[in-house]
Amino acid sequence: MSTSRVAVFREPGRPFDLETVALPPLKTGEILVRNEYTTLCRSDLHTFLGKRTEKSPTILGHEIVGRIAAIGPGAPRHDLRGAELSIGHRITWAIYASNPDSPLSRLGIPQKGEGLFKYGHERVTPDCHLHGGLSEYCLLRRHTPIVRVDVPVPLPVLSLVNCAVATVAGALRLAGGLSNRRVLVAGAGMLGLAACAMARVAGAQQVIAVDIDPDRLRTALRFGADATWLAEPGAPALRSFLEQDNPNEPLTVALDFSGAPETIEIVLGALGIGGTLVLVGSTFPQRALQIDAERLVRHLLTVRGLHNYNERDLITAVDFIERHHRQFPFETLVCDPFALDQVNEAFAYAVTSGVHRVGIRCESPTTP
Ligand SMILES: [Zn+2]
Repeated sequence: MSTSRVAVFREPGRPFDLETVALPPLKTGEILVRNEYTTLCRSDLHTFLGKRTEKSPTILGHEIVGRIAAIGPGAPRHDLRGAELSIGHRITWAIYASNPDSPLSRLGIPQKGEGLFKYGHERVTPDCHLHGGLSEYCLLRRHTPIVRVDVPVPLPVLSLVNCAVATVAGALRLAGGLSNRRVLVAGAGMLGLAACAMARVAGAQQVIAVDIDPDRLRTALRFGADATWLAEPGAPALRSFLEQDNPNEPLTVALDFSGAPETIEIVLGALGIGGTLVLVGSTFPQRALQIDAERLVRHLLTVRGLHNYNERDLITAVDFIERHHRQFPFETLVCDPFALDQVNEAFAYAVTSGVHRVGIRCESPTTP
């Protein structure tokens, strides 16, 4: 173990460069992980397609799972749940590392904390390259939140934890308790499906999925949704659909993963008195929302935004997947894995097929 294969992204439209780099000596607080599996998140595809600009060259991939290969001096010996960390343990870790004593970290927003380092988003330099999932190894920086996972969760499912599932856990936290509430989930992609499942497990009275694609809505029904509303021109108004379906129970929780201003406005218009809307999907430039401030005031509505997640959300996500991964067909959302050396084929397939996730097995067959 002295080198790592890495797939370097340089610019949109250019194939990844597969390179071999030397493993660096571990600095204080660092842990070396041998990546086992990475799923391609929608944001990886957007970077690949040039729809968003990231630092480059970079190592993409931040939905990763791997095993501890080496532990540096002063690195944590216990994870967020208090479990011991040793070589060989399978772990998942947060998308970020930041100073836990910085003001934003103390406010519960470490994902925006001082000295922020984001896996799958950093620039490759001669002495800093192992920071993404499209690589045989990943070097965890100091202050990276880590959770050890002993439960035998299939790797393609476990891989979803540290972006999709943890972000949804954060959205549910911001929405408040879901028990016996009517919950609407807009956007039935990977995050929306995870949200339906988590809302179901959290005891929601009803889970309503909203999307523009009837196929996605059918999938949502297998992830705990019990009603669907197709957002298409000419569709009956969402508000009257909800009233007809159950006139006595107002909609008090809505989670948006669509990022579509038209959908967000419709959902906000259907939110009942005291309701909370959490916006998660709007991670790209878009037009400003039209908000009826009088309605917001008179209906005591709350609109919150969420980007990434904190340690508590990561723990919630791992707990959820460990306990409930068999209850919902998460494995069917991840397409058969490609090998790391097939990264170009994997991205081409992910872009053209429209599947929820494409998986990559990171270990090289030639590596002992
Ligand atoms: Zn992601």
